[in-house]
Amino acid sequence: MKKQRTSAERANDDWQRAERVMPGGVSSPVRAFRAVGGAPPVVASASGAELRDTQGHTYVDLVGSWGPLILGHAHPAVVEAVTRAARDGLSFGATCAREIELAERVLARYPFAERVRFVSTGTEAVMSAIRLARGATGRARIVKFDGCYHGHSDGLLVKAGSGLATFGQPDSAGVPSEIAALTEVLPLDDEDAAEELFARRGAEIACVLIEPLPANSGLLVQRGEFLQKLRTLTQRHGALLVFDEVISGFRVAPGGMTELTGIRPDLVTLGKILGGGLPAAAYLGRADLMEKLAPNGPVYQAGTLSGNPVAMAAGIATLDALAEPGTYERLEQLGSELETELARVLARAHEPAVVARVGSIVWLALQRGPAPRAWSHVEKDGAQRYAALHRELLARGVWLAPSAFEVAFLSLAHTSAHLERVVSAFEQALAAKSGAPAR
Ligand code: PMP
Repeated sequence: MKKQRTSAERANDDWQRAERVMPGGVSSPVRAFRAVGGAPPVVASASGAELRDTQGHTYVDLVGSWGPLILGHAHPAVVEAVTRAARDGLSFGATCAREIELAERVLARYPFAERVRFVSTGTEAVMSAIRLARGATGRARIVKFDGCYHGHSDGLLVKAGSGLATFGQPDSAGVPSEIAALTEVLPLDDEDAAEELFARRGAEIACVLIEPLPANSGLLVQRGEFLQKLRTLTQRHGALLVFDEVISGFRVAPGGMTELTGIRPDLVTLGKILGGGLPAAAYLGRADLMEKLAPNGPVYQAGTLSGNPVAMAAGIATLDALAEPGTYERLEQLGSELETELARVLARAHEPAVVARVGSIVWLALQRGPAPRAWSHVEKDGAQRYAALHRELLARGVWLAPSAFEVAFLSLAHTSAHLERVVSAFEQALAAKSGAPAR
């Protein structure tokens, strides 16, 4: 008689097929679960706050496609808008009505900005904003912060040295050191280091680039004074300040961190929520800067699928749904509920941990408080404990980011019942990890 195969064995088949045809089985590295181990489930479909794999297991999703899905998966209004747009034509290679509509909505939420240019990915948005900053200032050097991620363009894949500003070292093979050398890396949360760099090199710096809410190395919440210092220094030295709001834009407030901090950057980059789950991103700023872009100015940047009508439709529907009364209050309430409950079960399990949170972005730091504000304060050995926890949670139907240093995203599709499932899975997972029975 033929032996019945377990669903885990069949799931492995799907993953092995993926590995045979795509490097690491993925289109983006972190999806391979290397930091937590095990074969990642292959996703078949998703709706609301839940993912379903090819074997029919369902998971409460705390990743939300890494940020875009603030309304949840397959939100009816977004699906409807995308379907309608698709019927009207998939791509025109010309300005379309939906592009204008989304541009107007974006500028209404970022009133400091007067023009927006659409691109397809966050990487492209930041890369283009840097070219514009260099073109506008005639300077080559850029500044980024240790722990901030801005996509995979050459000049931004650089390691930081410890403590003080260092010359960038390439973080990836294939990035020439000559290119990385134009990137200065500073520590977050450190006004003195920024002062010192500007005193030395202020006249060579085209722009300072920062995630105003750094959310790619845990959630490293910055002090308003630090961000304000960057505004003062850049202004004093004729450099531009670029807020990378690919994650925080529309997520923490309609106008992102630009709205919450009241600081006026020179350029903002957006992505993720902007495309409502489809590929759309943008950069925006004052007219005097943005009009330096081709065709009006000398800075060239272009894209066959930029401003794609179907992606624009998803963005419009997403921003319109977010503009309904009470949405941000609801996200805050869900975030607060998860933070409180997680803190409770972690404390009860005597797990050294602190929960960092802004609105619907939640990060579980497996170290004692206070929550770190700089990458050098993040305890890297929490990663092993996280990996064990991740495996236990996945087995209990909770899909957490497959890295200790990635945040969780809640959506308007999450309910208290979903959060209860998550918290109860955490309780059991913590007990299983320590070998004690869950109470
Ligand atoms: N900037 C930030 C702040 C991001 O979080 C990301 C992606 N996580 C990017 C840029 C790059 O965006 P994309 O993956 O769409 O290229």
